[in-house]
Amino acid sequence: MHSSTTGAGRYAPSPSGDLHFGNLRTAVLAWLFARHTGRSFYLRIEDIDTQRSSLESAHRQVADLEQLGLDWDGEPTYQSDNSAAYQSALDKLPTFECFCSRKEIQEASRAPHSIPGSYPGTCRDLSEAERAQKREELKQQNRLPALRLRASVQEFTIHDTLLGEYTGAVDDFILRRGGQAPDWAYNLAVVVDDGAQGIDQVVRGDDLLSSAPRQAYLAQLLGLPVPEYVHVPLVLNAEGRRLAKRDGAVTLREMLSCAPVTAVVEKLSASLGYPGVSTPAQLLEVFDPAALPREPFIWR
Ligand SMILES: [Zn+2]
Repeated sequence: MHSSTTGAGRYAPSPSGDLHFGNLRTAVLAWLFARHTGRSFYLRIEDIDTQRSSLESAHRQVADLEQLGLDWDGEPTYQSDNSAAYQSALDKLPTFECFCSRKEIQEASRAPHSIPGSYPGTCRDLSEAERAQKREELKQQNRLPALRLRASVQEFTIHDTLLGEYTGAVDDFILRRGGQAPDWAYNLAVVVDDGAQGIDQVVRGDDLLSSAPRQAYLAQLLGLPVPEYVHVPLVLNAEGRRLAKRDGAVTLREMLSCAPVTAVVEKLSASLGYPGVSTPAQLLEVFDPAALPREPFIWR
């Protein structure tokens, strides 16, 4: 195990299917950025979404990353083991119960002057009597309300190694989902886990850039250091859409059915500007973060 004083990076896949070229490219980049800067590197399975996650998928993803030639410190961790830590963080935060359905939020956030997709504040200032009545209504349906953060800012600024300063909206985002079986929200889990593991470098796809200000704000509220972010360009398909399994994205296992793993790493390396490099260890020797392509890579 490396010394924690050097900091740590991580790769944190959701176990809802086999890893495809886009996932692998982000994993390799997270590993390269961490190792290049002498950091520890952790693998964390983001399996709090109980509807979409499976342990079998997690095991296959871990095996895929091993086969690719990546290494990490310690054993992979699972968010589903960390409920006590999420509860403890939740107890420290200013929250309120939200009784809104998804449809109600969509309709309210279409109002003039509202930020698209952000929470319109419907339940923020309900009276105790109103809360009690709505709680009772949900209880009849065997449901619990969601818990939202009572945010005291409307935006927050983060620093990204590739993009510089980025300021984005912070709303009263969900910390624990409501319903019949409440789930921890991703924004809470990721911040608590990064804090607990001493993660000070977050490398991930740039589709998550807009959630970074919320997460950084939450880290600050919890007294945790805000990490350095590195949002890397995604792999897009020929139509310019994010590579996804449902669009027929090729998984590592499919690629390995007709090519050796060195050929897969060569394709990944070429996409990062290093043609002919066939192992992650060799890639680490030549990797220069400043030379990383800033455009999305088009999968053909
Ligand atoms: Zn609400």
